[in-house]
Amino acid sequence: MSEVMVDVHGVHKSFGPLEVLRGVDLRVRAGEVTVILGPSGSGKSTLLRTINHLEKVNRGWISIDGELIGYRRSGNRLHELKEKDVLKQRTHIGFVFQNFNLFPHLTVLDNLVEAPVSALRRPRKEAEETARRLLERVGLADKAGAYPRQLSGGQQQRVAIARALALEPKVLLFDEPTSALDPELVGEVLDVIKDLARTGTTMIVVTHEIGFAREVADTVVFMDDGVVVEQGPPAAVLDAPRHERTRAFLSKVL
Ligand code: ADP
Ligand code: MG
Repeated sequence: MSEVMVDVHGVHKSFGPLEVLRGVDLRVRAGEVTVILGPSGSGKSTLLRTINHLEKVNRGWISIDGELIGYRRSGNRLHELKEKDVLKQRTHIGFVFQNFNLFPHLTVLDNLVEAPVSALRRPRKEAEETARRLLERVGLADKAGAYPRQLSGGQQQRVAIARALALEPKVLLFDEPTSALDPELVGEVLDVIKDLARTGTTMIVVTHEIGFAREVADTVVFMDDGVVVEQGPPAAVLDAPRHERTRAFLSKVL
């Protein structure tokens, strides 16, 4: 068994009176793909956002590769890290959003080069070489000089994935990466994610693509109402769910 890369431990998160995460535990091993399923409003995006400390937790903790995220421990107290230390941690955590979030005023190449140069102080030439290699990997070597608006949604999302990879993250988080795409463009993005899975990238993918989950996930997690209802290999959770809530959800999406 490989080491635990992402460890989410007893995480609670509220927005005012609304408790959105009500004690979430999740462990993702290095090189594994975890797919999170669940109805709208069940807390999936909030969970991803707590993992890279875009949201603070109210209780519990999260570690990546053994390092506490957003806090440091002193004795048995947790102290929140300074913003610059949080930003440094975040460079190890790739995040791919539903709506791509590319920098519209930068070329594709510069979208990939920006963070390695500014956050990791990589020499520009080296960052460009890496960027071109990554664009090749997602099938967009010929689009280096294009601007995001000149690309299809599927191409933009592949650039966003390459951009996340440019920081050599320890884990990649995807929040419904194909939900904003026209149906005919979904496949090209899922193919890139499948390729990453084959080469051992640690990933957590929130998606409604059940076929993708079945094919690629090592673990499928079903969330509802701020808790993990059940988790296990795809064959168990998708084909023989133990909980009525999982069955009800799957009967709607399958
Ligand atoms: P999912 O991604 O599973 O659809 P979310 O994590 O986006 O669910 O949202 C879970 C709940 O938390 C929803 O009721 C949503 O309205 C609420 N929520 C999310 N973010 C905020 C926020 N910043 N402020 C207040 N409520 C929020
Ligand atoms: Mg969401």
